[in-house]
Amino acid sequence: MPATNLKDLLPEELEHYFESIGEKKFRARQLIKWVYTRYADDFSTMTDYSKALRTRLAETATLPQLKLVERQVSAESQTEKYLFQLPDGQAVESVLMKFEEHLGFERATACISTQVGCAMDCVFCASGQAGLLRNLKTWEIVDQVLQIQKAIAPRGERVANIVFMGIGEPLANYTNLVKSIKLLNHGEGLQIGMRHIAVSTCGLVPQIRKLAQENWPLRLAISLHGPNDEVRSRIMPINVKYPLADLLAVCKEYQDGTGRRLTFEYILIDEVNDATEHAHQLGQLLQGLHSLVNIIPLNPVEGYEGRRPSMNKVRNFQRIVEQYGIKSTVRQEMGTDIDAACGQLRRAHAEKSAPLPTGTRISLTTAAAAVAIE
Ligand code: SAH
Repeated sequence: MPATNLKDLLPEELEHYFESIGEKKFRARQLIKWVYTRYADDFSTMTDYSKALRTRLAETATLPQLKLVERQVSAESQTEKYLFQLPDGQAVESVLMKFEEHLGFERATACISTQVGCAMDCVFCASGQAGLLRNLKTWEIVDQVLQIQKAIAPRGERVANIVFMGIGEPLANYTNLVKSIKLLNHGEGLQIGMRHIAVSTCGLVPQIRKLAQENWPLRLAISLHGPNDEVRSRIMPINVKYPLADLLAVCKEYQDGTGRRLTFEYILIDEVNDATEHAHQLGQLLQGLHSLVNIIPLNPVEGYEGRRPSMNKVRNFQRIVEQYGIKSTVRQEMGTDIDAACGQLRRAHAEKSAPLPTGTRISLTTAAAAVAIE
C-alpha cells in the first residue's frame, strides 16, 4: 500500500485513517494540532503518541512540505514574496502583505495560488501566458499558508487573512479549493475565519453558484475589468462563455445568500476600458448590488502591450462610478521596488529552471492588496 499523505485529508478523513489502523478517532485532532500549530513534519516528535503508533505512522503515512526556494522582502518590509517548489519540480508563488491598518495587531494577509499556471487566458495577466500546467492539490494550497505562518511565527506575527488571488483560477480547482478552506478554517488548526477568506474569480458562473450553496460567509471578489460584453470578451475570453448578464445574476444570488458585500475588481487599461462611457456603464451594471469597486491601474506585463492610464483619467473614472452611489478604491503598487503582476516570479524561475538569483525584483498582486485592505 502506498503511504497516505495525511496533509491531504480533511479532519473526518483523518479520523477514518486512524480507525483504519486500529486507533481512536481523537488521534486525528492531536495530529491536526501537531501539523497546523506546531508545524511538525516528523512523526517521531509527536510525544503524545505511543512509540508503537509513531512507528506505525512512519511506515504508513507521510507529511510532505512545500520547499521554500526563495523569499524576497520589499524595501519597506510590507510585502514578502515566497516561491515554493512542489514535489514534481513545478513552482508556485505566494505573497504576504502587511498593511498599516494591521500594524500593531501582528496580522497579515496571505495571497495564495491554486493552480500551476492558468487556463483562463486573460490578455493582461502574466499567470496564464504559459497556459495551465495542473491544479494544486489540497495540501499544496494549505501548505503555502502553513509555511508562511511557520516563517513569521518567531516574529510574533500571524496570517490572519487569506486571499485566493495568486496564480490560477480558484474556482477552476473547485474541489481542492473547498477542501483547503475547510482545513484552513479548522478550529484545532490554523483557525482562519471564513470572513477572513476571500475568493477571487474571473467569473465561472456554475462554480459561483456552487460556492453560494456552501453557505459560508466568504468574501467573493469578481475580476470584472469590462463594463460591457464587447470590451470584456476582448480582454477576458471567459466572458464569451459566461457573459455579463449571467455573471451579474449569479452575483446577486451569492449576495442574497450570504448577505455579504461583493468586491468587483476593475483594472484600468489605457484606451481599452477606461473611457467615460465605460465608467457610466459600470455604474449602471452594478445597480441593485451592494458592492465595492477596486479600481486598479494596470500593472505592466511583459508580452502585453496595454498601458496604464494617467492618474487624471483614473480619478475621473472613479468620480463617475461614485456618482452611481457605488463605493470604490484606487490602488497602486505598495512600493517602488515592486512592480509587474502576479505570476512573474514563477515565470522567471521556470525560464532559468535554477534557483533565483538574489535581488530579483519581487512582484505583487496589486489587486490582492486592494481586496485585502478594504
Ligand atoms: N483568477 C482569479 C484570481 C487570480 S488573479 C481572478 O481572475 O480573479 C488576481 C487579480 O489580479 C485578478 O483580479 C486579475 O485580474 C488581476 N491581474 C492580473 N493581471 C494583472 C495586471 N497585469 N495588472 C493588474 N491586475 C492584474
